[in-house]
Order: sequence, then C-alpha cells, then structure tokens
Amino acid sequence: MKLLKPSNAAEAVKLKKANPKARYVSGGTEIFSHQAVPPYKGDVIDISRILNNSISPFQIGAAATLEEIRTSFDTLDFMKQATSNIGNINIRNMGTIGGNIASGKSSSDIIPALIASKASLTVEKEKGREDISVEDWISSPEGIILFVNIPDSGLTVLVRKFSRTTNDIAIMNLAIGYKLDNDTLEEIIIVAGCLGPQVVRLKKTEDYLLGKDLSEIEIEDILNEALGEISPVTDHRASKEYRMSLVKAGLEEFLREVK
Ligand SMILES: Cc1cc2nc3c(=O)[nH]c(=O)nc-3n(C[C@H](O)[C@H](O)[C@H](O)COP(=O)(O)OP(=O)(O)OC[C@H]3O[C@@H](n4cnc5c(N)ncnc54)[C@H](O)[C@@H]3O)c2cc1C
Repeated sequence: MKLLKPSNAAEAVKLKKANPKARYVSGGTEIFSHQAVPPYKGDVIDISRILNNSISPFQIGAAATLEEIRTSFDTLDFMKQATSNIGNINIRNMGTIGGNIASGKSSSDIIPALIASKASLTVEKEKGREDISVEDWISSPEGIILFVNIPDSGLTVLVRKFSRTTNDIAIMNLAIGYKLDNDTLEEIIIVAGCLGPQVVRLKKTEDYLLGKDLSEIEIEDILNEALGEISPVTDHRASKEYRMSLVKAGLEEFLREVK
C-alpha cells in the first residue's frame, strides 16, 4: 500500500488519473472499515489535509466531520438532525460529510437530507471545478467533493430515521423538503433510503401532492401513490413488507407535522 500526499485538490485528481486504482481517503472510517471484505489494501491518496472543514449554514467543507457539523452553531436544524441520527460518536468524530456522500450508501443519513434540500456539491474534476446536484453525483460520482452547498430555497426539510437501535444504520430513512403557500404544497421532494442499492426519490408521490391543499390530502391516497412506486428489498435488517410499513409511518408523521 502506498500513501500518496497531494498538496491540493487539482494535484490529487492528477494522482488519481496516474493511479486509477488508488482511492481517496479522508476520515478513513469507510475505506478502512473492518466491515469491508476483503479489507482494502491498495494505494490511497490522502485528501484529509487539503480539504476545507469550515461550516456555515449554506456551505460545509467536505472535510468537516459529522460531529463538527452536529455541534456547530452554524448548522441548519435539519443537518443537525441528520448528523445526530448517525448514532455512533466514534464514527461521527472521524467520518466526514464528503466521505459519507462519496460512499453513496443507501443507508446514509446525510444523502436523503441533502437531496431534499436541493443541495449541490462543488467538485474538483480533471477538467476543473464544477457544481453538481447531490442526485447527479450519486448517479455518476467523479472527482473530489470540496464543498456541500445548501441553497436558501425556503424549503423546510424534515428527516426521519428508522433503525433497530440508535447505534445502528437505518432500516429506512426518509427526508422530505416542502414549501407551503398558505395551505398549498408549492414544492415537495420526498427521498427514501435503504429501500434498494441507492436512495430513491418518490417522484410519483411528489407529483400527486404538488399543488394540493393540505385539507384535500388523505393519507390513504398518498400511501397508494408511495407504495405503488417503491419495491423495497428484503435483507437481514428488514423485510420488504416491514420497510413498506415504515414508509407509511414516515409519511403519516410528515402529514401530521405539516397539517
Ligand atoms: C460502524 C459504522 C457505522 C456507521 N453508521 C452510519 C449511520 O448510522 N449513518 C450514516 O449516514 N453513516 C454511517 N456510517 C458511514 C459513515 O458516515 C461514513 O463511513 C463516513 O462518513 C465516511 O467518511 P470518511 O471521511 O471516513 O470516508 P473515507 O473512509 O475516508 O472514504 C469513504 C469513501 O469516500 C471517498 N471519499 C472520501 N472523501 C471524499 C471526497 N471529499 N471526495 C470524493 N471522494 C471521497 C473515498 O475514496 C472512499 O471511497 C457508518 C460507518 C461505520 C463504519
């Protein structure tokens, strides 16, 4: 294993081009996790010292740890909640927001919250720096995440994690971003995690809800839309049916909260 130490992000990207199999490492919690089978033994490009860890309400440096975000006075409420949902303090102390997003896990507590807030990422790529949405990054990850940008979009974002214990990763994750004009849903984004290999947006349910007055919305109608467009996996954490019941519970909670 070789440890490569670039002095800036552009150099790190060049090193990666010259060593395509090498992996970036930031907090190291995922890449060196004992859960990785077989353990990773290839070359690593250490980006932990070249990334920013600043935190402001609308921009977070990729090297900010999950605990730094959780405890910062400048963190927006939904991001405090999302990072608090990562129950294990050791992981929060080491793991970075950039590493969490780049890992692209469906069980991430961060990714659904960021998609529901319409967040974008500033990314260093071979061809230079660009801003892309979190959704686009997840479907086609490339380069180094430098910053997470949360727009001042007027959306309220609610996050909900269902897990076996507070220390566990989620069985089902839900994040909902919404904007009301009086009682009308002017904007709505619904993102669920742990239903399959990647987080998913419940677009049909969003379309169904968009423009509706809260008083017109019946929970049964939303559930018909939502349960019709998802097909959760069954695995060692939960069955498909149980996950569906959690989607139902999460949407019911959401409706109670906004009504
Ligand atoms: C025991 C355990 C429990 C966990 N529980 C939860 C949980 O409840 N909820 C949750 O959301 N997550 C959970 N996680 C995941 C955890 O949040 C991530 O492991 C952590 O955030 C990864 O950050 P890191 O800096 O350690 O990444 P690393 O391990 O350094 O890197 C992870 C991956 O991301 C890439 N990478 C890292 N930084 C960047 C960057 N800036 N740009 C591009 N690529 C990058 C690396 O190449 C690697 O592929 C858990 C992990 C463990 C091991």
